[in-house]
Amino acid sequence: MEKIKLGISTCLLGENVRYDGGHKLDRFLTDTLGQYVEYVPVCPEVECGLPIPRESMHLEGNPESPRLITSRTKQDMTERMVSWAQKRVVKLEKEELCGFIFKSDSPSSGMERVRVYNEKGMPVKKGVGMFAKIFMDHFPLLPVEDEGRLHDPNLRENFIERIFTLKRWREVLSKKENRGNVVDFHTCHKLLILSHSPKHSQLMGKLVARAKDLSVKELYQQYQTILMEALQLKTTPKKNANVLMHMMGYFKEELSSDEKKELLEVIENYRQEYIPLIVPITLINHYIRKYNQYYLKQQIYLNPHPLELQLRNHV
Ligand code: SF4
Repeated sequence: MEKIKLGISTCLLGENVRYDGGHKLDRFLTDTLGQYVEYVPVCPEVECGLPIPRESMHLEGNPESPRLITSRTKQDMTERMVSWAQKRVVKLEKEELCGFIFKSDSPSSGMERVRVYNEKGMPVKKGVGMFAKIFMDHFPLLPVEDEGRLHDPNLRENFIERIFTLKRWREVLSKKENRGNVVDFHTCHKLLILSHSPKHSQLMGKLVARAKDLSVKELYQQYQTILMEALQLKTTPKKNANVLMHMMGYFKEELSSDEKKELLEVIENYRQEYIPLIVPITLINHYIRKYNQYYLKQQIYLNPHPLELQLRNHV
């Protein structure tokens, strides 16, 4: 697989672009995830023409439609930022990004819970950074996170799974459009989709089953929308346990009663969050190899991202 293209707030890469001339280097993003990702850096404040260093800024007013104001001299930077951001997101369409990692808490780049000050100077953490808002409105289905949230192992796993899946989908899009490619993609992703949303899994199954009744364009469009919506819903131990039980069903004939008991115990221990997901997955992988279970072998769910990222090793 080619590297995955992700937008990122420039300061997270260690570039000295912050208002104080510093950076916010995040080693996980550069050194670990960076091995699989090609970053497209965006620093809204510098790219809209502000110098380094510069006066710090904050959001002010109504949290739904705040103004971007410099903290000391109270200059209003809203129009400047908005008109730059509207052009920048159009340019970013060409990059075919699979997601964006924002700098948390920034009045320009923060994706949620950014401080917005009222007329008394009191902050409420209800704002969205000005560029981040325009970006998310322009690309509503693209996976987005901030570096702070990515320290949470569940959010990290979910985000990385989504960007890898979107990258595989983009590879389908890069080939000549035909129904068979969508069916093949869906076949390999069935269990992964099920782990996010049984409801979407059903919808997509129905969509693929009536693929011949739709124009190829319609099929691609509808499939992509439901896929992205499904992946926005997070996996949970309960949903994963459901998928694991489903996989166990493929070994009804082969497993001895002792082996079944052991696998059931491991799945239950995972569901109760005593052990990480990698444990039942490893055991099931062992049976897949042992009994050469062809359908499960091709399931991306068993290997949705590089093992080295250790995303399934947490409880
Ligand atoms: S938070 Fe955003 S605007 Fe601020 S320095 Fe980082 S990239 Fe630039």
